[in-house]
This record gives sequence, structure tokens and C-alpha cells, in this order.
Amino acid sequence: MAKKYEGCAVGIDLGTTYSCVAVWLDEHNRAEIIHNEQGNRTTPSFVAFTDDQRLIGDAAKNQVATNAENTVFDAKRLIGRKYSDSVVQKDRMLWPFKVISGVNDKPMIVVKYKGQEKLLCAEEISSMILTKMREIAEKFLESPIKNVVVTVPAYFCDAQRKATVDAGAIAGLNVIRIINEPTAAALAYGLDKRSNCVGEKNIFVFDLGGGTFDVSILTIKDKVFQVKATGGNTHLGGEDIDNRMVNYFVDEFKRKNKVDITGNPRALRRLRTACERAKRVLSFSVVTTVEVDSLFQGIDFFSSITRAKFEEINMDIFNECMEIVKSCLTDANMDKSTVNDVVLVGGSSRIPKVQQLLQEYFNGKDLCMSINPDEAVAYGAAVQAALLSEGFQNVPNLVLRDVTPLSLGLSATGDIMNVVIPRNTCIPVKITQSRETVADNQPDVLIEVYEGERTRASDNNLLGSFTLSGIPPSPRGYSFNVCFAIDENGILTVSATDKSTGNMNEITITNYKERLPADEIKKLIEEAKNYGIEDKKFLRKAKVMNALDYCVYKVKNALKQPEPNSKLSSVDIDMINSAITVASNLLDSSQQVEIGVLKSHLKELESMLERIITDKKE
Ligand code: AMP
Repeated sequence: MAKKYEGCAVGIDLGTTYSCVAVWLDEHNRAEIIHNEQGNRTTPSFVAFTDDQRLIGDAAKNQVATNAENTVFDAKRLIGRKYSDSVVQKDRMLWPFKVISGVNDKPMIVVKYKGQEKLLCAEEISSMILTKMREIAEKFLESPIKNVVVTVPAYFCDAQRKATVDAGAIAGLNVIRIINEPTAAALAYGLDKRSNCVGEKNIFVFDLGGGTFDVSILTIKDKVFQVKATGGNTHLGGEDIDNRMVNYFVDEFKRKNKVDITGNPRALRRLRTACERAKRVLSFSVVTTVEVDSLFQGIDFFSSITRAKFEEINMDIFNECMEIVKSCLTDANMDKSTVNDVVLVGGSSRIPKVQQLLQEYFNGKDLCMSINPDEAVAYGAAVQAALLSEGFQNVPNLVLRDVTPLSLGLSATGDIMNVVIPRNTCIPVKITQSRETVADNQPDVLIEVYEGERTRASDNNLLGSFTLSGIPPSPRGYSFNVCFAIDENGILTVSATDKSTGNMNEITITNYKERLPADEIKKLIEEAKNYGIEDKKFLRKAKVMNALDYCVYKVKNALKQPEPNSKLSSVDIDMINSAITVASNLLDSSQQVEIGVLKSHLKELESMLERIITDKKE
């Protein structure tokens, strides 16, 4: 029986481009997608920094064209990766914000906030989005939220999962479970369909989002959702498709106007927004236009693109998706004919060519589009959150059994990858292997833990290393145990034990170079709180500015209609007029003005207004 957490928990789909939050509603026997303050059910995963405030979500995305360098998105593409990672290097060229290499090759985002340069890691940006999603949920539920279930792409590696947990911690949240996005979507789909689900059903989940692509095969039987295999690419999605379109039109602009816009972040950002819009139109129309006024050096851009051209420039992306579909079925040892339902998830699964290829592959089978592809993941996360929380009574009795996406092992003599936990093993799992020393009187052993499918250990991803020391003098072949354990979140712990001496030298892999150390997380939690305090301060000041502005308006109006019996002298009127001028000047330069000054001036003007009105009444 899984541990139950106190109170109410929500499910958050922390997406590359959009995020979504949902909560289980006992009284309605279903999960509810919670809309944000704009009434939108998904919130852009954008954070912007300006001279006087920080913006998150719609507010950040809406101002991107005018503040491209300080508007950060795609943090999920960076999380858990190194700066030197080729994927980061490729993305960096297309982002309007700056990314540099920090300590231990950690990518750091450079922004200007309140006139000062700030360095932020992907975990911090993600934590800001999580904070926003929590606020949305708290407003709806009218109670504080601490516990959350966060979803990640099934293909996220160990470092990416841990970094996501860290992002939650920085936001002051308790991430009670990390679940895989396609599994969450299957949960949503399965619940939707459970009334007519008889016997065992094989479900194929195809999840093509903004930045990641995931596929999973699950078997649903009674209350058990068993993942059979999972696959994907954590760097393949709608944004890559947008990039193709951007490059296509950059070339066209160059050809037509003999100027290159690639060095201009603002122009690129504006073109990208137009391309994304055109892409969406091409999902229901066969041709569309792309228009950007004064794109670069005052030159307007106007062009069109057909669906056929769009498909041509993206065909290799679509084919890569199909290859991953095939290999997932091979991994699960299943024939495509045994798949009962193909479920589409993620905004990019709306692309007609993607649907066509998938339908053809599954021999013309109807694709399941009954659940909203943008919301299914958050819905499933909310179900999982309810299953783990004490605060819900009316949750369907379900069991989720997921798998690990990548093989995990040790490096053996000759740089061989010795797999301890093969990929697609059911989690949680704990496997202990006996190992031996390779030299006489070897005092210690270096244990290097890798993740990946390559034969040579060094071709895989080194997760971390530690030393088992204090081995008593003995000939080679002295044996010790190494234990790999993956918890329900898919997070790995490796320990080594000297069985002969009974010495337990247990070490958990936490020494990722790119992972945030505990004291750094503590520091970032404090910083996150400060951001929150500054946001509130800004809001308080904005309210006072509004009140002052409105008061100026009311005083001006009152002065415009002087009563014949008004007792205001011309000296009084001069004084009021000069107070209005001071107030207007303060409002014009409000950025440099303290809230206290604005407040005291508001008070003064309010008392003048009262006098004008009272004088008139007498
Ligand atoms: P998600 O990560 O699931 O929120 O998916 C977001 C991605 O889906 C973005 O790249 C969007 O541009 C893309 N998307 C959303 N709607 C459509 C559509 N109708 N046609 C093509 N792509 C879409």
C-alpha cells in the first residue's frame, strides 16, 4: 500500500511550452482541470523579467515580442542537461535569451531583472512555473497546497527526474510522486473508458508535445495499469517543427531581401510566433499565410505555406516518431495487431500527417481522440495525486505499474557496460549483484554508474561514481555487493556493501556534477521566497499607483465643475493643481519612487478631494 500524504494534493503537467494543473473532485467523481486567472486551462511555461517585475505564464508570453532577451521558455529542454550537451548547443542558437556555462558545465540563463544581470538555472525557472501552477490551484481550492504529483516525459533520464524534484523543492512544494506523462495520459483515458472495458486491453499512447516525444504501451486489466514498454526522445516536439518553419522563412527572407535575420533575437521571436500560428492553422487548412510587419530593418514579411510544403520540411521528424513507435512495440514484444487503442496526447498530435502515418501503421485503426490532448496528462496526475493523499475518499481504486526507460549498470573491466537493471523493468525495483576485486590487496573499488544502451560504458551517460573503501588485504576475487534500487519516482540509489566484514558502505548517488547540491537548493528556496515577496511588493505598489491615478482623475473632474457656492479660494485651487502635477510626475517616474511616497501623496490628494466635495455640498 502506497504511503498516504496528509491533505489535498494536485497533479501538475509541467510542459515544455504549456503547463496544466488538475485536482480530483470527490463530489463529481472525476478530476477537474483548473483554469488560470485568464480563464485558460493551460498556462504558458514562460517566465519574464522586466525593469520592475517578474511575470509568469500568459503575462510573460504576451510581452515576449518586446522583451525577447529576458523572457525564458523551454526550461524543460535544459533541465538535467550539461551546457556542453549538443542538444543545448543547438537550442541555444535559436533562443532569444542567453545561456552560458556555469559551475560544473551547468547551463545558466542570463536575464536582466530590475536593471541587474541575473543568472538562473533551469530548475529555478521550472520552480517559478510550478509556483504559478500552485497559485492557480490554491485560488480554485481556496486552501494552501503543499503536495503535488509532477509529470515528466517517460524518457527523462535520472538526472532530469531529480532536477524536476529539485525544482519542486525550490518552489517550496513536496513532490510526492513523479509519474511518466504517457502513463498519466493512459490513466485519464482508462478512467474515461473503464465503464466499457472488459478483460485486458492494450493501449498505445502517442504523446507528441511541444518539446518532447513519448510513447508507451500499457495493459489495463481490472484496476491495474501495467506499462509494458516505453520509448521516446526528450528533445523532439512541436518546437522542432517550429524551428524548421523558422529556418525555411529565414532563408526565404534572405533570398528575397538579401538580409539575414538570424542575429536578431526580436525578429526571430516574432517570426517564430507567426510560424507557430501558421502551423496550427495547417492542422485544419491546406494553405496559410505568414505575415510579420516590419520584421527586420523596416521590411515587412509576407509569405504563404502549403500543408504539403510543411509536411515536406518536417518529414524526417515525423518519420523519426514512427521509428520510435515501432521500436517500442518491439521492446514490448508485441505485434501491432494486438493493440486495442491508440491514444493521442500532446498538442502536436493534432498534425494531420502525424495522425495519417500512425493510422496507416496501425492498419487503419481509428485513433482515440476522445480525451483532450492538452489536458490528459494533468488529469492523470490528479488521479495519482488523489490516490496518494488522505484528503480524498472517492478515488477509483487503481494501481499504476511503470517501467524504467533506460538501462542502468556499472562499468566493468575493458570499459564494458554491465547492465544491472535493463530498460523497461517494472519499478520500484531493487537488484543486488555480487562483484569482485580485480587485483591482489586492492584497498578500494571505484564504482561508476552509467545509464544507456551502448555496449561501451563510456559511450553511455555517467550518472556518478563513488568508492567502496576499507577492503581488508586479500587476493583478487574478494567479493562485495552492489545494489541498485529505483523508487516509484524512477529515481536511482546505488549502494555497495562489503559482505565479508559486514561493513555497510552504503552510498547514494547524489554527486551529479550538474545536479544542485543541498545547500544550493536551500539558497534557491530562499531566493524563490524573495521573488515571491518582490512580486507581492510590486503588486501592492501597482495598486497604490492605480488608486493615485484614479484619485487624480476624480480631483480633476471635481475641479471642472465648480459649484457657484464653492468655498475654495484661488489659492486652494492652485494648491490642488500643483498637487495634481506632483502626482502626475510621480506616476510618470513611478519606478524610482518608493511606495511610501506614493501612499502619502494619495492620502493628501484624497483629503483634498474630500474638501472639494464637502465644500460643494455646503
Ligand atoms: P503540449 O506540450 O502538449 O502542450 O503541446 C504544445 C505543442 O503543441 C506546441 O508546440 C504547439 O505549437 C503544438 N500544437 C498545439 N495545437 C496544435 C495544432 N492544432 N496543430 C499543430 N500543433 C499544435
